[in-house]
Amino acid sequence: MTDVEQQATPASSQWFERARAVSPGGVNSPVRAFRAVGGTPRFMVSAEGSWLTDADDTTYLDLVGSWGPMLLGHAHPQVISAVQDVAARGTSFGTPSLPEVELAEEIVARAPVESVRLVSSGTEATMSAIRLARGFTGRNRIVKFAGCYHGHVDALLAEAGSGLVTLGIPGTPGVPEHVTADVIVLPYNDTAAVTEAFERYGDEIACLVTEAAAGNMGVVAPDPGFNAFLARTCREHGALFVSDEVMTGFRLSRAGHWGIEGAKEGWRPDLLTFGKVMGGGFPAAAFGGRRDVMDHLAPSGPVYQAGTLSGNPVATTAGLTTLRLADDAVYRSIDEWSAEARRLVSDALDEAGVPHVVQEVGSMFSILWGTTTRARSFADVQAQEAWRYGPFFHAMLEAGIYLPPSAYESWFVSAAHDDQGLSRMASALPAAARAAA
Ligand code: PLP
Repeated sequence: MTDVEQQATPASSQWFERARAVSPGGVNSPVRAFRAVGGTPRFMVSAEGSWLTDADDTTYLDLVGSWGPMLLGHAHPQVISAVQDVAARGTSFGTPSLPEVELAEEIVARAPVESVRLVSSGTEATMSAIRLARGFTGRNRIVKFAGCYHGHVDALLAEAGSGLVTLGIPGTPGVPEHVTADVIVLPYNDTAAVTEAFERYGDEIACLVTEAAAGNMGVVAPDPGFNAFLARTCREHGALFVSDEVMTGFRLSRAGHWGIEGAKEGWRPDLLTFGKVMGGGFPAAAFGGRRDVMDHLAPSGPVYQAGTLSGNPVATTAGLTTLRLADDAVYRSIDEWSAEARRLVSDALDEAGVPHVVQEVGSMFSILWGTTTRARSFADVQAQEAWRYGPFFHAMLEAGIYLPPSAYESWFVSAAHDDQGLSRMASALPAAARAAA
């Protein structure tokens, strides 16, 4: 952190010092530390609608939205009031409770799932879905795509080797090689690689897990028909198709990404995972799908899975209230604001002569820097000129706009984003675009 930044953000700088003294890197999740863009992370003290306020009393237009959950914007009055009501009656019972049933009903009504199990994080959801798929099929191998993130599950922190169809190698110290040896990592949107993997290992593959639309390597849309092809290939080989909608679920439409693709094309995943929006800003997540598969879970079936705070009444009430408020008008307004924001960003970058592609799927988007060719895979994304993002990010931050502190992340819009936010974008963008040139 430079002296200039310390002067500009004295309170955040002080809190960062204190945080680093007691926590690794000063944060509780790595991307928050601003390592990719440099500078001092802002310590937020409050949030309302589409605005965040930090410890120095600076207010920012928020395009991170807590990494996806804040579909309605921050501190939505009805969500807050429902949470206050339920919390006053007890915060955790460790017994079945009412809102968890209602949240499960809401999920079953929206998404292509017959039965759901609630958990506390997206990581837990994908970890449990994988265990269930292995238990159900009696097979061990998993297929995943390079650049797709499914939480910090050991087996899913696998990286691709150099071949087209490669067995995973650990993506971090601390994950033993044998844990990723059963994971096949393929290039995203590569149907030939999927076919080859299933031809070679088909009767050993328990499941293929993919982000419904990739948002963790920046946004990379599935090619038209790609998910349908995956569903078909899994079915042909007796493997389960697991669609990870932790990021996209209940965000891109009432029924997530499946609602804008699978519902129209007539395919269904065997299992889906959810998180973020369905917790309304609290730790709640879920996995669900075919009843015959879900019934393999304890106590109906033999596959063990449990959680002290699973279905927590406060978290499920926040999620339930959020989902009940998320009607067509909410999705329409998010789509419209996002389209306008993308246009403003793209126009400013064009004006400054910065080659770029706006990578988008529904209302989620990110910018690919220094190229005009749309990225279809992690390798494509890695070839971008990511160095342009740091100066752009800091110019936007100085102008009061909080973007994801990494070029490899999606931007998130809420139903609370309004014309005031667009005006702030319009005035900030020309200088930020020049900074990226
Ligand atoms: N799956 C996807 C697609 C995600 O984007 C994430 C988190 O960003 C996860 C799983 C993990 O969720 P959590 O951070 O709640 O563990």
